[in-house]
Amino acid sequence: MSSFFSKTLSGLEPYVPGEQPAGVKYIKLNTNENPYPPCEAVVRAAESQAKQLHLYSDPDCRELIKAFCSVYGVDENEVIFTNGSDDILNFAFKAFCDSEHPAVFADITYGFYPVFAAVNCVPFETIPLKDDFTQDISSYIGVGKTVFIANPNAPTGIALKRSEIERIIESNPDNVVVVDEAYVDFGAESCLPLIKKYKNLLVTQTFSKSRSMAGARLGFGVACRELIADLNTIRFSTNPYNINRMTATCGVACLKNDAYTRENCEKIKKNRAYLEKNLAAMEFSFPPSMTNFVFAKHNCVSGEKVYLELKKRGILVRHFTGSRIADYNRITVGTREQCDSLINALKEIIQ
Ligand SMILES: *Cc1c(COP(=O)(O)O)cnc(C)c1O
Repeated sequence: MSSFFSKTLSGLEPYVPGEQPAGVKYIKLNTNENPYPPCEAVVRAAESQAKQLHLYSDPDCRELIKAFCSVYGVDENEVIFTNGSDDILNFAFKAFCDSEHPAVFADITYGFYPVFAAVNCVPFETIPLKDDFTQDISSYIGVGKTVFIANPNAPTGIALKRSEIERIIESNPDNVVVVDEAYVDFGAESCLPLIKKYKNLLVTQTFSKSRSMAGARLGFGVACRELIADLNTIRFSTNPYNINRMTATCGVACLKNDAYTRENCEKIKKNRAYLEKNLAAMEFSFPPSMTNFVFAKHNCVSGEKVYLELKKRGILVRHFTGSRIADYNRITVGTREQCDSLINALKEIIQ
């Protein structure tokens, strides 16, 4: 740290993203990317913008918003696009938290939440998951803080019902409830239909997982127009061009080919069932996943050993070191072939 670094932020511990190895060819099952590449139309969309890169992108994302509204059935002033959904989560901490509205989230959830709290100097509290990693809903009822809830949760893969989240929203009318639905397209119930009913609900989603666009960086938030206006105040005070030309055009193409996304999600759900069946047969245990990953622990082999042995065999998974989850690995559901490679490697390792 230089002597110039802000004293306020001197204790900041940045988020550590999953490994993105250069060189060695790994089967990458560590960052929940989609194993299927974007469709042809998205590839052509990116190419179509290359010769226009001397021009700024549209800060109002008009084409993108139009395409979005026709797929999702919301009004144009009820959505905001951001540079990945990490961007909008950061905006939400800035816009909706302060000393009177501290943040609250689970002790085991997306590792970026405490980092966003810290970088925005927002106080926060955590609510422990129960022993089986399910959420303790009653602790959020009337909690009187800005709630961040990943649904389905990461890295556990467990989903809450919409009705359970609705109770949290309803009981905290003076605070915003942010529902991070990064994985919702893999089977959970979305809270999107609730935005017309509650002024304090912000739903965020991403094109990184179900829509095969992690490298393009595109996320969005849906909420009542007042919350969206607040988020745009932050966005226009930070970087009005946070969606670049290529990404915006790719996003439009992706939305116009929504069937491709839906088909891939169905394939991933099938692969997930196949992987879960095989993991169970090898004496791994895991919570039922509603995502494109499985959070698994073996009966006798440690989580760290599974991670290291898989790495030796050219397969990357995400290992966590937190005390309650050190025996687990978060394994992305890949193609059927990738699942088979993983299963074969695991068979060797547990022998
Ligand atoms: C992947 C992920 C995100 C955001 O990813 P972006 O690529 O920034 O859109 C947000 N929340 C959770 C829980 C995630 O796993």
